[in-house]
Amino acid sequence: MKPGARKPLRSREHPRAQPQIAGQPPPHRLNRRDFLRGAAAGMALAFLPPAAAAPAGPVRIETPFHGAIFNPRQGRAVKRGLAIRVSGTAPAAMRVKVNGQTARREGDRFDAEVILRQPVTEIAAVAGASAAGGEDRIRVVWDRHSRPRYHFALDDNIYFLRDIARQRYDSLFDCAYLKLLRNLNLKYGTRFSVNLYFAAEDGFTLAEFPDRYRGQWQDNAHWLKLAFHAYADKPDRPYQNAPAEKLLADYDQVAAQIHRFAGAATFAPPTNLHWSMARPDALRALARRGVRCLSGYFRKDNGGWDINYGLDDRRSEYLSKHDLLMDFETGIIFFRDAIVCNTVTPDQAAQVLAPLAAGPERRDPINLLCHEQYFWPFYPAYQPDYAQRIEAAIRWTTEHGYQPSFFHEGILGSPEA
Ligand SMILES: [Zn+2]
Repeated sequence: MKPGARKPLRSREHPRAQPQIAGQPPPHRLNRRDFLRGAAAGMALAFLPPAAAAPAGPVRIETPFHGAIFNPRQGRAVKRGLAIRVSGTAPAAMRVKVNGQTARREGDRFDAEVILRQPVTEIAAVAGASAAGGEDRIRVVWDRHSRPRYHFALDDNIYFLRDIARQRYDSLFDCAYLKLLRNLNLKYGTRFSVNLYFAAEDGFTLAEFPDRYRGQWQDNAHWLKLAFHAYADKPDRPYQNAPAEKLLADYDQVAAQIHRFAGAATFAPPTNLHWSMARPDALRALARRGVRCLSGYFRKDNGGWDINYGLDDRRSEYLSKHDLLMDFETGIIFFRDAIVCNTVTPDQAAQVLAPLAAGPERRDPINLLCHEQYFWPFYPAYQPDYAQRIEAAIRWTTEHGYQPSFFHEGILGSPEA
């Protein structure tokens, strides 16, 4: 996804007209072991059977939200657990039990306490003497080791690899773009996920990138990861209506190239797709490839929710307010981008980020996002203050106690167990 730098966020137009890529590059295959490794990393929270989508009967859990992710501040610490409030509605005369405990009643409201002891807890509110009176079930996630942390994702990348391939630098970091990222890593410890296209509009593809930097990629893999983003910049919204097979074919092509030229340690599953839209079958397929989380804008545009992976209105609205949500259908955590640096001047960064660190709903995981193209002077919407924009966001998170992390690991960078 990539809102134009000179246009408001709602613009879907790109400032540059581009020709379509001619011809299809040869197919590449990722080996089965790599797939299994990726899938195993996602096993802990994924593939759990979803709770019932709608309550049966008159009982309804209102809070927490199905898929909510709790940090230790969002409850009462008990021995090896977190006590949280569960509330909702049921006919006033009905007895309600929540996970076996009788709930307090006040009018048509019920209220109970549930203790989270596992990464995922099912909460069942049952009315009457048995489930025949109606019930509602939800699941929530306990991020028990949560701490303030941030992830830096760079989207729409291809030009820097073309630059390195053509200039034949001695070192990857002779490329000005990677030099900037390394300087920020040295200064702040920032970890970067760099999400790649397979092809540039002039026909350059990842297949042309040499493998002679493999050792250098691997030496820096602890802070610099490469991931899939899309086949190319155009068309816009490439996966919004695409079948899973199309998305996986593009994904595998990019993944195979990353493995070839940078090695397995540098490869990471993506934390965002181009335009942040995909069909449910494609999301399930991505989860099987090891995708653990996906970021988007989750914003309302012309009356409808957009840049939201096609999630329904209720969940999109929840994400727009709370920033995090587990989708138990796929095991993917969706999260809202805290800032898109190419849309925010350096002096505005603190203003955009400050609300996230304030109040009882203070966010622990914060996603910082930027797009590669604005770095390059040849790009029509080039931003001379690109480096300052990125650094302003990183400086703010660092000064507010957020630690660098990779969100594709654990629960958005937090250990699961
Ligand atoms: Zn994009």
